[in-house]
Amino acid sequence: MTTLLVSHPSFLEHDTGPHHPERPDRLRAVLAGLDDPSFGELVRRDAPAASLEELARVHPPEYVEAILGIRPVADERVHIDGDTVMSRGSAEAVQRAAGAAIASVDAVMEGRTHTAFAAVRPPGHHAGPATPGGFCLFNNVAVAARHAQARHGIRRVAILDFDVHHGQGTQAVVEPDPDLFYASTHQYPLYPGTGSPRERGVAGNVVNVPLAAGTEGEAFRAAWADRILPALDTFAPELVIVSAGFDAHAADPLAQLEVETEDFVWLSEELLEIAHRHARGRLVSVLEGGYDLDALADAVTAHVRSLMRA
Ligand SMILES: [Zn+2]
Repeated sequence: MTTLLVSHPSFLEHDTGPHHPERPDRLRAVLAGLDDPSFGELVRRDAPAASLEELARVHPPEYVEAILGIRPVADERVHIDGDTVMSRGSAEAVQRAAGAAIASVDAVMEGRTHTAFAAVRPPGHHAGPATPGGFCLFNNVAVAARHAQARHGIRRVAILDFDVHHGQGTQAVVEPDPDLFYASTHQYPLYPGTGSPRERGVAGNVVNVPLAAGTEGEAFRAAWADRILPALDTFAPELVIVSAGFDAHAADPLAQLEVETEDFVWLSEELLEIAHRHARGRLVSVLEGGYDLDALADAVTAHVRSLMRA
């Protein structure tokens, strides 16, 4: 079985300005890594734009229209908050980033590929239904989960988030809905300051494992193996969606965890095994953070190799 890679040139036109860590070069580094001949078997397609209806499964229509209506001219940028920025190219990028996650769901649900990786920016896991922030405007993984339920007739969708920051936007969508599951490891304390183990959703459908600065790969793996994977196994997802942020890497400048590429590979394989056990192998991975270009490219390519081996 093959793996789908979804991306789009518009993701490079989301211009966050000089000195912003969430910059176009991140995606250039990822795509350059995936250009290697060893990735020749990837099925590649351009991300479609998510429709208003698809976005409105998570975000109120007024919010969607407000975000898509922000169209700065020329080289101007609009600051949505202290670190969330929109440029002239951003509206198309955010619509196609959510569309990339949706196209990935369609591919695995229709059995065209087992796995899919959406190489997108901006990321999405900090965006709540009506709240942008943390570089995020639309919640790509939540939109993908709702799309899977609405269009493909499944109920139980799990979102696993190994980005170093807690995905409070995703959690806000998941926590009232027992048909969804969300689990996260994240550095604490760190932005956005949420993700306490006491935040458990309904019936334990939210699992948070905060990790102290300096936590190494062994403890990172133990958090997943002991606290998250058993709960995920019990939930028995019909589709596994991964919020794949690589800023827990030891080289990342935005956080202080000491996770290495081999740890991301280990976790990828654990998640694939659960996808095989419960979800016919269906796993969709969507890029979130990761701000050291070399570490990001190294970890993403290793992660995608895992998806291709599945
Ligand atoms: Zn992050």
